[in-house]
Amino acid sequence: MRYHETSEHSGELLRLILPRIARHGGTYYPTSYAVWYEYLAGINPRLADALNARLNDPRPVSNDETVRLFARYIAARDVEAAEKLHAEFNALLLQLGTLASSAGADAADFSRALQEASAQLDAPLDSGALRELIQVLARRTTAVQSSTDEMRHQLESSAQQITALKDQLDKVQGEALTDSLTNLRNRRGFERAAESLLGSRPNGLQGSSLIMADIDHFKRINDSYGHLVGDQVIRSVAGVLHSNIKGRDVAARFGGEEFAILLPDTDLDAAALVAEQIRLAVGRGRLKRTGSNEYIDKVTISLGTACGYAGESVDALIHRADVALYQAKQSGRNRVETVAAAA
Ligand code: GH3
Ligand code: MG
Ligand code: MG
Repeated sequence: MRYHETSEHSGELLRLILPRIARHGGTYYPTSYAVWYEYLAGINPRLADALNARLNDPRPVSNDETVRLFARYIAARDVEAAEKLHAEFNALLLQLGTLASSAGADAADFSRALQEASAQLDAPLDSGALRELIQVLARRTTAVQSSTDEMRHQLESSAQQITALKDQLDKVQGEALTDSLTNLRNRRGFERAAESLLGSRPNGLQGSSLIMADIDHFKRINDSYGHLVGDQVIRSVAGVLHSNIKGRDVAARFGGEEFAILLPDTDLDAAALVAEQIRLAVGRGRLKRTGSNEYIDKVTISLGTACGYAGESVDALIHRADVALYQAKQSGRNRVETVAAAA
């Protein structure tokens, strides 16, 4: 499946997309919707690069342009990447097949030459005939040796090509798990990491904690300074998250201005400390608007923390950390709240 956003997140995207299309004087075609959806959800880095470059120009993005962006970066993306890798693997297999059969033919020749030599040796041979026979065998041996050498070289280069193709595949898959605005994992990337944590230990999420974080009054930031500054704020909060985690911790952008941090083998108290460090660091940061000396208003975030228990699902832990986050918002924002594990 191409889309993995929750219904809540996709609803939030819907509310963002419609005004975007309207602002550009566009029509609500499925193609325009898909372009803005993938752009705002942060799931299509190449589309984001192209559209960001286009958005430097203040003229509205026309329907025709969105249709072209759709064709190039959405419709063609999966098909193109898959077809290219498929063709490259096929060429490699063909090359290896030719190599194996020519090596097989050389080996069969050599074996035939040995049999013939052995048959000739059954009869008494004079020294001249023996020398000739030895020369023939020496030539054949050299030929087989050089064809083996060539095969070794070609196998080495095929191994390199296979590694390069595997890297490309990892890159394509990595992009699908990464949020293009912040370079943190996206929701899907987070889920992969959480699943592998769950799968790797008998007690699952027991003793591991989750922090959910959400920027306070982010709508005001967008309203006061515009969406580009809003994006800058999201990136800078992501940077704070990134520099406050270590080792196997996983930080992700869940969408919008909401983040999750999974802390393996970290109890509730330790997780609350990490959350508090992040809160303080975000509060200390002062952002300037690009191209000006003007500082924007102080940015704060609220955080909710919960520690998992044996048998708990990732979704259930997310839900409990979300409840804590909601409490942090209710009690005035710019604070950390924790929820105790269910009894
Ligand atoms: P609260 O303190 O309760 O969290 O208030 P808030 O204003 O932050 O409220 P809410 O979380 O509902 O608002 C999120 C806003 O974030 C809504 C949407 O316009 C904006 N937003 C979501 N994704 C993006 C994005 O990628 N870039 C920008 N600039 N804004 C976004
Ligand atoms: Mg918010
Ligand atoms: Mg929010």
